[in-house]
Amino acid sequence: MKKIILTGDRPTGKLHLGHYVGSLKRRVELQDSGKFDKVNIMIADAQALTDNADNPEKVRQNIIEVALDYMSCGLDPERSTIFIQSQISELTELTFFYSNLVTVSRLQRNPTVKTEIKMRNFETSIPVGFFTYPISQAADITAFDATTVPAGEDQMPMIEQTREIVNKFNTVYGEALVLPEILLPTNQACLRLPGTDGKAKMSKSLGNCIYLSDDSDTVKKKVMGMYTDPDHIKITDPGKIEGNTVFTYLDAFSRPEHFSAFLPDYVGLDELKDHYKKGGLGDVKVKKFLLAVLEEELTPIRARRKELEKDIPYIYDVLKKGSDDARETAAATLSRVKAAMRINYFDDKELIKAQSEKYTPAE
Ligand code: ATP
Ligand code: MG
Repeated sequence: MKKIILTGDRPTGKLHLGHYVGSLKRRVELQDSGKFDKVNIMIADAQALTDNADNPEKVRQNIIEVALDYMSCGLDPERSTIFIQSQISELTELTFFYSNLVTVSRLQRNPTVKTEIKMRNFETSIPVGFFTYPISQAADITAFDATTVPAGEDQMPMIEQTREIVNKFNTVYGEALVLPEILLPTNQACLRLPGTDGKAKMSKSLGNCIYLSDDSDTVKKKVMGMYTDPDHIKITDPGKIEGNTVFTYLDAFSRPEHFSAFLPDYVGLDELKDHYKKGGLGDVKVKKFLLAVLEEELTPIRARRKELEKDIPYIYDVLKKGSDDARETAAATLSRVKAAMRINYFDDKELIKAQSEKYTPAE
């Protein structure tokens, strides 16, 4: 079986470190590994509109931001198909057909939807489109026959729901859809990177992000203001590592060579943590180290972005070509789905023959 990737992001803002460690960095590695037959990267504008219906301009403006972030991190249009969801109308058709296979109560039980509804204070005024977006996500994944979905932990219930839809479809209509698997980050800290405020998830909607395109001064301000251990007041106080965002980020980003380069007094992260726990190590020193680590990661990304920003029409051209390519793939899947569902009337010569025989019985 072919190995195919489908993943993406909502164009509701620029991409941040959570996206980077949760999915984006992995996608680039998988793209470069040459082990996949196809890498599809989707800018999920239609999904973004499900909770931004009154603000299409926000979505429109952020498409280019996400595309620039992608390419500055190393997604390469020669090796990955980067496309815009709304331009693939086949996805909407698939969503419509799959929605017959899902119950309202099942959607209500989806933990990600539950959390997001709470986060957006929707209470009872949830847009139907938002409520049903797990179904449209199943359409996105299956349209490309994706086997692998690199994503953060928050997406687990989504992939689970997609798998249920695939199994249901294949049982009812015959094997037509590919069963996908989520590919989670292997590093625990990257499963769900917290925000700079210490809240559970770095998220555009919570305003606690370090963006890939933030300049050095902004990153410095954000790192220096990061949430640590509120009880670690004097340098001599013993400090806590659990829930200490600065250490979570070091878990996510630091490598042994960073110590020899920027903090040679320590051999590695364990020694730094031990010192912090014992007391005698100040937050500022740890934050300065984190800043050096992040700057090393972000500097080349920023530089590539500057280059890419010089030719915006080229980026739109990439997205158009990607969307044309994606539409072809999705159309092939849709035909297969329609045939399986027995709604391919005009392609089915047998059907027409059988129906005519019914009305003009052989003499
Ligand atoms: P929004 O608030 O608009 O939903 P978001 O910041 O949650 O935005 P998405 O576009 O929903 O971002 O997520 C895109 C991808 O990035 C998903 O695979 C998701 O799992 C991953 N991701 C987002 N935030 C984080 C995070 N803090 N840690 C790890 N992965 C993340
Ligand atoms: Mg999200």
